[in-house]
Amino acid sequence: MRRLAIRIGIIFVQIFVGIAFLATTASGQTSASRNPSPDVYLITIDTLRADHVGCYGYKQVETPALDALAADGVRFTEAFTHSPITNTSHITILTGLLPSVHGVTDFGIPLSPQHFTAAELLKKHGYQTAAFIGAVILDSNTLAPGLDRGFDFYDNFPVKTDTKERWGRVERRGMEVVEHAEAWFDKHRTGPHFVWVHLYDPHDPYEPPPPFSEKYKDHLYDGEIAYADSAVAHWIAFLKKAGVYDNAIVVVTGDHGEGLGDHGEETHGLFLYDSTLHIPLLLKMPAAAHRGTVIDAQVRTTDILPTILSATDTPAPAELNGESLLPLITEVAQSAPSNRALFGETDYPLRWGWAPLRALRADNTKLIEAPRPELYDLQADPKELKNLYAIDSSKVQSMQAEMAKWKAKLPPSSASAKQGETLPDPKDKVEVQNLLHNAMLASDDNRSSDARQFLEKALQLDPSSPTALRQLGELELGAGDFAKAAAHLKRACELRPDDSTAEFELGEAAEKSGDWPGARDALEASLKLAPSQMSARLLLGHVYLQLKDAKNAEDQFEAALLVDSNNSDGRLGLAEAQIQQSNFAGALPDLEALAKSDPHNGLALRLLTQAYRGLGREQDAKRTEAQAAVLEKK
Ligand SMILES: [Zn+2]
Repeated sequence: MRRLAIRIGIIFVQIFVGIAFLATTASGQTSASRNPSPDVYLITIDTLRADHVGCYGYKQVETPALDALAADGVRFTEAFTHSPITNTSHITILTGLLPSVHGVTDFGIPLSPQHFTAAELLKKHGYQTAAFIGAVILDSNTLAPGLDRGFDFYDNFPVKTDTKERWGRVERRGMEVVEHAEAWFDKHRTGPHFVWVHLYDPHDPYEPPPPFSEKYKDHLYDGEIAYADSAVAHWIAFLKKAGVYDNAIVVVTGDHGEGLGDHGEETHGLFLYDSTLHIPLLLKMPAAAHRGTVIDAQVRTTDILPTILSATDTPAPAELNGESLLPLITEVAQSAPSNRALFGETDYPLRWGWAPLRALRADNTKLIEAPRPELYDLQADPKELKNLYAIDSSKVQSMQAEMAKWKAKLPPSSASAKQGETLPDPKDKVEVQNLLHNAMLASDDNRSSDARQFLEKALQLDPSSPTALRQLGELELGAGDFAKAAAHLKRACELRPDDSTAEFELGEAAEKSGDWPGARDALEASLKLAPSQMSARLLLGHVYLQLKDAKNAEDQFEAALLVDSNNSDGRLGLAEAQIQQSNFAGALPDLEALAKSDPHNGLALRLLTQAYRGLGREQDAKRTEAQAAVLEKK
């Protein structure tokens, strides 16, 4: 029966495809490349430096899948990202907008519904849409809200997981990502499809699985790239087997590169040098049109969405900051010069209190706006080692004029390097940032003593780094050294008075070391900055109980119960505050209800005993007292 159903299904699909084909030809679309709805497969490989890919001339890595896609399609030798940060860059790829225009310039900032994503636009055009991510930093429930808009299915991470390992909790191996995509595809055969696959593997820490861990043991970053390539190979082989590859558009790109020590930067995010901005870009068109073409003109990640929309005849939104790449790959345009300037941005340094950067890359020249500005002649100095910036140089002035035009396109509220002029130059802080990053990785892996060493070293270099102080405070809090934790966190709060999390943690550390007035002040400060924090509210209530300030304790627990009226900690706290004020009758009903619904709650029984005794109901008091004693013996 099942077999028969499948056969009928296949016949139905054949008939359907036949009708679709007739409709296509009847509407006058003759060329295969003009099929109105080719599938679109977007593959983003995180942290992929262009000069570490085989088809980009690198000899120390094997990337056969990427090389084959380059051979089947168009390879852009000079492709650049506008942002060296994962979620900012991906949102630029998916919206075709500059970071300051879409506004997602840091993790956790929601993508405004006024900006359309590729998935929304293609879905409206009849596509089935799905996204498969390799890292929790693109999870739409937590760090990338709004990025799932328009996707029928968005493969977020599990909300709760018991594992302490990074795999499955913060990161998925590339092969797992493509297996999820393949499983989804098997259940959604009817096209057209827009599927985005994100392979996080080359992002640090560099831990490729065997055999790549062995083969590339002396250069593990390349090992991760080779492994990601094997996942691409799996996905492409699947698409070929499913019969959808030939007519599909396949786009492969990186979200940013990796410093690998260039300019002192080990990873990415802090600077706007080519080591983190230059990325690969491969575009395979339906029927492998223009196969093997190599384009040397400068192009940008904002050009990807306009290209997809143009190639699928999908209506474009009014606002796009890039242009379709299709004119560049036609014969006529190949000889025409392209002047696609790259406007680069990073607000990442602001996380540490350092100046954000802006860059303009045009005509083989790069201007970087920073407290100490930079200008590079990229033809003579591709590694950007010789800063030619001089305020009176005509080159500087013409680049500044061009940059002003780009800035005029940005919303006025966007942070600019101008606002950061009084902040330290990230060039002076790169060593500290490397240490902070290593500490974060060590903490993620539960290597506390390594994390402590990195942080202490970072503090030696920059004694007033609020990030180092807060991270160290969190480390000591976890290790149970509350006095030390409080000292670090207090200093972090003084340096960054708007950090509600640091204030809350300071409150926790003070509470745990019995410093009630200190805990009260920190928690009050934290709640002033972020009033909806439930845990801070409850903890402050308990601190007021310790201070015998029952009225204020009552206020805090009542405020907490307004948010969650069933919270048992809040209900018990409120009852205790009422008992402290001799309001035994007020506390009684809720305590009786709590003791009834949870007879093993010792605190509820003890408070109930006090309430009965206060009301002169000695017999009831003795009964609940005995019940509590039995529980305590257990
Ligand atoms: Zn990234």
